[in-house]
Amino acid sequence: MLSEAGMPPARVRLVASLVRGGEIRTAAVREAFLRVPREEFVRPEDRRDAYDDMPLPIGEGQTISAPSMIAIMLEEADLRPGERVLEVGTGSGYHAALLAALVGAENVVSIERLPGLAAWGRRNLDRAGFAAVTVITGDGSLGCPERAPYDAILGTAGAPQLPPAWPRQLTDRGRIVAPVGLSRTFQDLLVARRRPDGGLDLRRGTPCAFVPLVGREAWPDG
Ligand code: SAH
Repeated sequence: MLSEAGMPPARVRLVASLVRGGEIRTAAVREAFLRVPREEFVRPEDRRDAYDDMPLPIGEGQTISAPSMIAIMLEEADLRPGERVLEVGTGSGYHAALLAALVGAENVVSIERLPGLAAWGRRNLDRAGFAAVTVITGDGSLGCPERAPYDAILGTAGAPQLPPAWPRQLTDRGRIVAPVGLSRTFQDLLVARRRPDGGLDLRRGTPCAFVPLVGREAWPDG
């Protein structure tokens, strides 16, 4: 088990509160949160608030999700070391770094539509020691077919419906965890798992509020 000695106290306190709250359920997710320095993924003026459990603005109208929401998503994704993961919506790179801590940085592909954020997320990942994560600029509503298949696809922006390309890019044990809903602001967390017969088992989980997924198979721009 990862030792908490030498960790910033605010990070240790946040992790303890996510364990108490039930958002963190497994040792693997707990250790990922202990390893990743959230302060490296927020704007300089927000460093003080890096370990509060709330979303933070990251510029260009986008936000980094609250740690509790990310913890719920990571537990739902049920990741094992060595699995290949696509994250749609790199933003700050924080969620990608947590995925890297769980499966290995070389197994994480993250796609971001806004070039400025993709570059900033790239720099944050490099600085925090996750240089092997692949960051791609593009429309993740189409998935990222060049790097498919994935054992898991995590969406961190809200889609009007499950983008049809995503299930096609899964391995036969693939999962999808993503906010989906008919409003640009509010969604339910959709958890999908590929069945042996190729179909998808779908479950609607916790209500949530992500920024919209904007793209060809998602919301229009503006
Ligand atoms: N996972 C990020 C959260 C960023 S918010 C983090 O940990 O910081 C969601 C991000 O999704 C935004 O940066 C937004 O620009 C991006 N996004 C929205 N639509 C997208 C699309 N079609 N493809 C890729 N990224 C998209």
